[in-house]
Amino acid sequence: SEMSKNLSAFLKSGIYRFEDSNSVFVDPVRLLNRSYTRFRVSPWAYYSRFFQSSEATQLQQSSNSRKRKRKKTKPHTFNERERVAEQRHQEAKPFLLKACDSLLRATDLLEVMGNLRNGSGSSSSSPSTTFEESFIQLGRVWQAPFYEITLKFRPDEAGGSSITQYSERVLPVFNNLIVNETSDDVEAEFMNTQYVLPPDSSFYMSDLRQIHDLIPAEHDCGFNLIVIDPPWENGSAHQKLRYPTLPNRYFLSLPIKQLSHKEGALVALWVTNREKLRYFVEKELFPAWGVKYVATFYWLKVKADGSLISDLDLFHHRPYECILLGECNGESLDSNNTSRIKTIQDNQIIISIPGDYSRKPPIGGLLLEYVAGHSPTRCLELFAREMVSGWVSWGNEPIHFQESRYVN
Ligand code: SAM
Repeated sequence: SEMSKNLSAFLKSGIYRFEDSNSVFVDPVRLLNRSYTRFRVSPWAYYSRFFQSSEATQLQQSSNSRKRKRKKTKPHTFNERERVAEQRHQEAKPFLLKACDSLLRATDLLEVMGNLRNGSGSSSSSPSTTFEESFIQLGRVWQAPFYEITLKFRPDEAGGSSITQYSERVLPVFNNLIVNETSDDVEAEFMNTQYVLPPDSSFYMSDLRQIHDLIPAEHDCGFNLIVIDPPWENGSAHQKLRYPTLPNRYFLSLPIKQLSHKEGALVALWVTNREKLRYFVEKELFPAWGVKYVATFYWLKVKADGSLISDLDLFHHRPYECILLGECNGESLDSNNTSRIKTIQDNQIIISIPGDYSRKPPIGGLLLEYVAGHSPTRCLELFAREMVSGWVSWGNEPIHFQESRYVN
């Protein structure tokens, strides 16, 4: 059968563009795989939760709906904050519904969605020795400066030698910018565990206190695109997170302005649906960073069959998260500077099947088109857990998902 243009584009790029709405469906595995030359992100290790058997899903759903019903019996009136949150939701809803509709009508895409987890790549790749301690723990101990990572550069194949003699470079793993400046994947070893660094990528693994080390000496070396996914505190104490969170005031001191290119940067901030947080970002955080709000994008989460992961109207468990986009004009002194950020249409929807460990889809590539005039664009991800070609990844565990069990 003839494959639609959209579907064949999707299979190559990981992006399916719906014609009649401002929404896209993305496969994070395909998006990430654009970074690698020899290695592949394992779809099996990326996805799992939303590919469970339909029987298991049904069981879970019925137990969930029982829980919900119990909650609903309590009469509920919105307080002021909840009312504002509900209003935001109602404003977003038409766009979210339209995106759902586009997805459900893309029958060619729906047919392949159920198989996104079965790509190539090994599923059994659990290395004999796995580094069990976390980077977060190791980075905190007094010995942190002494921990080293070994980068193994492949010999230039043009040399024609049949003996593969890797040249090794041993570097401090914490508080140090580690760069793969080659155009090939580079393997690395830390504590008997293998990692893969994509071409033209770098990471800086440190605590928030060292983030100032990333500020460029020259302003024309700043970043034009900055994606930030902070470890926000979660209202519900029982939500089990795999990483430490920080109170909001810690983020006020992030040096976004100093990190931005003097000709401006596009800033993309992941936020939760808590109204208190939205208020903080609008009234305090963006002003403190010198960021001007531009638009809101939504990440809409679906299951492999195309249905939403939860009811759109569930107040405390929305099937979407927001990305607030803003513009930061760096520290340029002339006031009449012309920003290089292109106009961004509001309310765009990015649909995907969520990965495990609450990974966010890699949206950086989708935002590149709005950063004009800089080639190559200088891109920075803050609080990153993975690396992408062309990007600097910063956080206290930026190579977490570079481990060979995820990329092999
Ligand atoms: N966007 C990432 C993804 O999709 O995988 C998730 C980022 S997660 C919300 C926040 C990250 O910030 C976690 O990796 C956490 O360990 C890190 N983090 C928490 N406290 C930190 C600190 N004080 N300094 C640096 N990073 C920190």
